Amino acid sequence: RPHLELVGDDIQVPLVQGGQRRYINLDFAASTPALVEVAAKLDEFLPYYSSVHRGAGIKSQISTSAYEGARETLRAFFGALPTDTIVITRNTTDSMNLLASCLPVGAKVVAFTSEHHTTLLPWQRSKGSVHYLTMPKSASQAVEQLSDYLRGQPDTTLVAVTGASNVTGEIWPIAELATVAHQYGARIVVDAAQMAPHLAIDMTALDVDYLAASGHKLYAPYGAGVLLGRADWLDSAEAYLRGGGAVDFVTPTEVLWSRGASRHEAGSPNVIGAVAMAAACETLAAYGMDELAEEEIALADYARRRLADVPGIELYRLWEPEAARIGVVPFNLAAYDHSHLAAILSAEFGIGVRHGCFCAHPLILELLNVSDEQATSLREEIKTGNRPRLPGAVRMSIGVSTTRDDLDYLVNSLTKIANEGPSWTYAIDPNTGEF
Ligand code: PMP
Repeated sequence: RPHLELVGDDIQVPLVQGGQRRYINLDFAASTPALVEVAAKLDEFLPYYSSVHRGAGIKSQISTSAYEGARETLRAFFGALPTDTIVITRNTTDSMNLLASCLPVGAKVVAFTSEHHTTLLPWQRSKGSVHYLTMPKSASQAVEQLSDYLRGQPDTTLVAVTGASNVTGEIWPIAELATVAHQYGARIVVDAAQMAPHLAIDMTALDVDYLAASGHKLYAPYGAGVLLGRADWLDSAEAYLRGGGAVDFVTPTEVLWSRGASRHEAGSPNVIGAVAMAAACETLAAYGMDELAEEEIALADYARRRLADVPGIELYRLWEPEAARIGVVPFNLAAYDHSHLAAILSAEFGIGVRHGCFCAHPLILELLNVSDEQATSLREEIKTGNRPRLPGAVRMSIGVSTTRDDLDYLVNSLTKIANEGPSWTYAIDPNTGEF
């Protein structure tokens, strides 16, 4: 099998105490570096890139064929149906907002409060209403909760759910949730931002109606995402953006909007982004998503086991310890503020992690046991225009280039911080509160 290599995997970073070392990236859940094959594909394609769908020249023909080819690669990678529409978007957030704008009038959406804001919020300004289910304490409870809700609300239109959590790494029971949704006549959309780079996805086998993902979490550079799914709502909704490329005919008084993906892709499309995203999917597929998932889940289990031994660490999870999880681990260490800890890991050890609330405020408050009173007082303070420090955590997340050595290094660094404290004094920025 081919080896998966990333661009910039040997970057050296300066350390605050002097010297330098190889950067240890443990922040794949935010954005991933590009695969070497993606960079090579872009080098090869860049000389030919030109206007898509709009030119007669050979470069336009090549670009159009690469752009449409990318759509088909994405269809194959995600196991979408031949009849599904595949819209190239900016990212998962754009895809979810696009779907929200295409809901039938009066649509009723249901989502769990544990969702990333991308999957939690777009429905609030759609043409329907949204109901939130409390956070389940296990995968099976999620299925039960949804089933109980839909039994009482059988006119629900859409279930919005994550494939894998960007905060806890927990893998949601998509196939079961899809079965329950369909039993009550609802459709299901899966936020696959985190699932897509780490687990094999077959929309047809899972019986998922819509799926959203981001290229920049899938080992391609920023700028392109995708929404795949059933054509009818997309074809009968208003164009997501109004402009060139989305129409069949225009008079000053009438617009005949296109059908298919182009209806929602007004403006010159991001051909480079689409080609890069497709090249990444092809490379991952050639490696084998099942094999990759198996390797990464073993690494993630190793990371959780080893991290649990760091003195003073608190690891967070919503579900029982044996629940299936991808390699995303949130934690705090003793009395360290999360931003302080992340700053120490970067400055003294050259480790890149993320810290904060991970765009999932309800979930992080639940994981950190923040009381309703505390949450209310934070809210009130924010409303007055202040920016209080929000409770949060540090998150380490793994990807295709992560090794046991990287994880050992993180664990040893945290243990050193826990035992000896930081070896440097960090100033606090009075405006942001960041260290
Ligand atoms: N959903 C999940 C689960 C995510 O992790 C993210 C990115 N953090 C998003 C949605 C949003 O992705 P993007 O920023 O690429 O739109």
